[in-house]
Amino acid sequence: MAEVQRCDAVVIGAGFAGMYALHRLRDDLGMRVRVFERGSGVGGTWYWNRYPGARCDVESMFYSYSFSEELEQEWEWTERFPAQPEILAYAEHVADRFDLLEDITFETSIVSADFDEKSREWTVRADSGELVAAPFLITAVGCLSSSRIPPFPGLDSFRGQIFHTGQWPHEGVDFSGKKVAVIGTGSSGIQAIPKIAEQAGHLTVFQRTPAFSLPARNRPLTAAEVAEFKASYPEHRAEARVAPSGVPGIPPVGSAFSVSDERREELLTERWIRGGTSFLSLFNDTSVDIEANNLSAEYVRERIRDIIDDPDTAQKLLPYDYPIGAKRICLDTDYFATYNRDNVDLVSVRETPIEEITPRGLRVGDTEYEFDVIVFATGYDAMTGPLNAIDIRGTEGVLLRDKWAAGPRTYLGIATAGFPNLFMLTAPGSPSVLVNMIISIEQHVDWVADLLVYLREHGYTRVEALLDAEDSWVETVNEAASHTLFPRGNSWYLGANIPGKPRVFMPFVGGAGRYRKICDGVASADYRGFTMSAAADVQPDAAEVPVRN
Ligand code: NAP
Repeated sequence: MAEVQRCDAVVIGAGFAGMYALHRLRDDLGMRVRVFERGSGVGGTWYWNRYPGARCDVESMFYSYSFSEELEQEWEWTERFPAQPEILAYAEHVADRFDLLEDITFETSIVSADFDEKSREWTVRADSGELVAAPFLITAVGCLSSSRIPPFPGLDSFRGQIFHTGQWPHEGVDFSGKKVAVIGTGSSGIQAIPKIAEQAGHLTVFQRTPAFSLPARNRPLTAAEVAEFKASYPEHRAEARVAPSGVPGIPPVGSAFSVSDERREELLTERWIRGGTSFLSLFNDTSVDIEANNLSAEYVRERIRDIIDDPDTAQKLLPYDYPIGAKRICLDTDYFATYNRDNVDLVSVRETPIEEITPRGLRVGDTEYEFDVIVFATGYDAMTGPLNAIDIRGTEGVLLRDKWAAGPRTYLGIATAGFPNLFMLTAPGSPSVLVNMIISIEQHVDWVADLLVYLREHGYTRVEALLDAEDSWVETVNEAASHTLFPRGNSWYLGANIPGKPRVFMPFVGGAGRYRKICDGVASADYRGFTMSAAADVQPDAAEVPVRN
C-alpha cells in the first residue's frame, strides 16, 4: 500500500483554471497545494490542440489572465485572435513567472477521489499509484478535454495514420502529397481544413451537419493599438467581467425587425466585414426568436453561395439544420473558399453515414475511399466527460457519475450535494463555455478562494451544497435555456453529440455578469445554499447538524 502524502488542497488539471487555482491558493492563501496534470506541460486545451490552424475565437487582449497587472503589461500578443502556439507560450510563461511548475506533477492522471467523512478529507489516487489526502479537492479538468473518436467498426484495421484534433502530436504531421480525410466540420475541422488542404495531395472532407461559420478576419495587432489597450487595461477588464459574454461588445441595435430590410443588410454586412462573433449579437432577438434568427442565418447562407464556385458543393454546405448560434458558432479563415480548390472534395454523410473504417480508408454506403491519413475532428464528451472519467465518490460512497446518470446536477455549477469540500471549476451549471473561459475561470477560482478564507475564519472544515439549493439552481439553468433557441441544436452543450448521453442543456445561459452577481449574492448571504460545520460540531456516531444554510 502506497504511503499517503498530505496537503491542503489537490487540484486536478494544469490548464488555465488549475494554474490560477494553484497561484491563488498557494500564494495568497498560504495553502500547500498539489496539482496533477496528465499532459507533460501546462496549458490544458492549448497543450493538446496543436492541429494546424488552431486558434482561439476570443480576442487576445481579453483571452488572458487579469489577476496580475505586471503580467498583462509585460506579455505581448501579436494577433487579433491568438494562435495555439502563442497561447501555449503564454501559459508556459505564466507557469515560470509564478513558479507554478514545482507544485505540478505531470504525466499523471487522477483515477479516483474518495471523501472520508471522519477525517473530512479527500484521498486521490493517481495512475502512478501515488495517494494524496487533502481537505479540499478542486477539479480543473476543462470542459472539452475528453476527446472522442466515434466507435466506427474497423478503426483498428486502418493501415495509415489516425489523428484526433484534440490529441495532436507535438512534432506535427506532414501531409505533403498525402491523401487525407477529415471527418467533422465543427470549430476544429473548420480551422484545420484550410491548412491541411494547403499541404495535402488531396483532401476529402466528410460532413454530417453543415455548420454556420463566420470570418474571423484575424490580423496582426499593431504596436499602437496594443499600447492604447494596455493603457486602459483596468477599465477593459472591469467591463469584461460584467459583460454577458465576458468580452465587452457593442450593444445590440434592437430587434432584427426594428430596422428596414436594407438597413439590416447593411448592418449585417458591417459585422461580417468586421469579423468575429459580434455578428450574432447585432440584434437582441437572434438567440431567442426563430424568425429573427433566420434573417441572420440566411445572410450567412447567401455569403456561402457567393463564395463557393460549384453550386452543388454550395448546396451541401448550407446550414439549415439548426438556428444560427444554437450550436457553437465557428470562426474561420478561408474555410468555405477551400472547397474551390482542385485538391478538395466534400462528401456529405448525412443520409449515408460512414459505415466502417477499412484497412485502406473508410466506407460510405457502397463506396470505399482510400487514404494515407484520417483526421478525426469529431469533438468531445463535453463538460461531464472529464469529471465522469474519474471515480469521484462522495458521502456514502456515491459515485458522481451515478448521481449524474440522468444529467449533471450542481449548485451554481461549482458544487454538488453529497460531495463535501469538492469544487468543480467551470462545471455544468456555470456559464463556462458560453463566455470567455478565462473570465469564467478567474471568477470561479476567486469565489472558491473567498469561500476557503470564510471557512478558515469561522473554523469550518466541511462545506457542502444543499440539495434544495441544487434543485433550484438546476431549475434556473434549465429555465434560462428554455427561453432561448439553444435547445434546438443537436449540440455538445446538450450532450446530443454522444449517443445515449442524457439530453440536458449544461451551461448557464444567463451570461457572465448576471452569474457573477448571483455568486456574489450567495457569498454575501453567508454562502446561502451551503451547509458548513466545524469538526468539533460532530459528535462520534451522531448525525452531523448543519450549522448554516
Ligand atoms: P464539435 O463541434 O463537436 O464537432 C464535431 C464534428 O464531428 C461535427 O461536425 C460532427 O457532426 C462530426 N461528427 C461527429 N461524429 C461523427 C460521425 N460519426 N460521423 C460524421 N461526423 C461526425 O467538435 P470540435 O470541432 O472539436 O469543437 C468542439 C468545441 O471546441 C467547439 O464548439 C468550441 O467550443 C471549441 N473549439 C474552439 C475553437 C476556437 O476557439 N476557435 C476551436 C476548436 C474548438 P454533427 O454536427 O453532425 O454532430
